[in-house]
Amino acid sequence: MLEIIETLLVLQNRDRTIVQGRAEIVGLGIERVSVNERSANAEAAQADAEQAAKELEVKKNALEMEAAGEQTKIITYSKQQLETKDNTQYRALVKQIDNCKKNISNFETDELMVLEEMDVNAETQKQTKADLDAANHDMATALSEIDERETNLQKQIGETETLRAETAAQIDEDTLSRYDRLLKKGRSNIVVGVEHGACGGCHMKLPTAEVANLKSSQEVNYCPNCTCVIYYTRDMNLAAEEA
Ligand SMILES: [Zn+2]
Repeated sequence: MLEIIETLLVLQNRDRTIVQGRAEIVGLGIERVSVNERSANAEAAQADAEQAAKELEVKKNALEMEAAGEQTKIITYSKQQLETKDNTQYRALVKQIDNCKKNISNFETDELMVLEEMDVNAETQKQTKADLDAANHDMATALSEIDERETNLQKQIGETETLRAETAAQIDEDTLSRYDRLLKKGRSNIVVGVEHGACGGCHMKLPTAEVANLKSSQEVNYCPNCTCVIYYTRDMNLAAEEA
């Protein structure tokens, strides 16, 4: 294999490491978002349960006030009963007092239901608090792990970039600029072997003369279709023998 091809293959490997490392860093960003989301969701659930507790408390107090109001009315009507000498008025007051008692009973039933809801909600609050604590605890661990992985990746990328520059310095300007053009396009298969007479990058059949020339060629050759660097492989030899 030509020395320049070997050097280009090393360059390609380093670039793949760098590209992969950068992709992993993007992935870590996504992981961070989902870790934060779990805590945010647990926090929202806890806030909802707290809000529900407040609302139930307000409801309970309102029912108690209503019942007390009815109680006050009963006292007033009872006094009026004692004072009146009119039978019709007396009977009307009895009816009003009965109504008040019915209302009180209804308010008390409603209050019992609210108290039951408060018990259920208190359990929910306990659960949401436990969920939030767990999510926050896990979040701290997960985030510090993600940070550590990112630091390591950045270190690895930095080191590979230094090595990459050293390798690139061994390659002539023309070859390197053709390689870099494909790298910038996002290609990861830039230096490829020829397989069964076809380019290993784009898989297009190469002209027979090109394949024949490749084995003895002392210079860098490019695929006429996808412009990547092509080089001789054993596979190409076998294909030629078969033909
Ligand atoms: Zn090609």
